[in-house]
Amino acid sequence: MTLHSDVNYKCEQCGAAFIPLVKLQKCPQCGHEAPEAFEYFVHSTVRSALYNLSYGSFLPMIWGTFTTGDSYYDAAFRFLHYATRQQDVRDLCLSDGEIPPETARRVAEQYVHHVATVDPDYIKDTMQDFFSRVLIELKADGRQFVIRERKKSPSVK
Ligand SMILES: [Zn+2]
Repeated sequence: MTLHSDVNYKCEQCGAAFIPLVKLQKCPQCGHEAPEAFEYFVHSTVRSALYNLSYGSFLPMIWGTFTTGDSYYDAAFRFLHYATRQQDVRDLCLSDGEIPPETARRVAEQYVHHVATVDPDYIKDTMQDFFSRVLIELKADGRQFVIRERKKSPSVK
């Protein structure tokens, strides 16, 4: 089982598929401002990722992409899988504090530019911002799940 997203959005002007997280977010392709925002999308992404993690990994065994939201979820699962394996993020996940925005931004930037293949190119900044928000929300929402994964990881290697 996996939790999917029914969010689909296309830029009114150029038709680019992306998800505005805040009102008047600019289209990554043409800059047109989105008149609506999916303000709970980051939260629902984290909920779906934590659901996967309750079965042992942020990465689901099987995933089907049916909406733009699903493709964002899929990208976020991969990002979280990567990010929570970075020592500083792991340490922060185990502490009582929050993940500082600058740490989240740096890990997301590293991932988007040096680890993942993010396609098309114009969506890179948009995805970097999304990943950064997801990582901060993950810590706010699901500390105990992250700790649980850590205990499992040595045997996975
Ligand atoms: Zn556009």
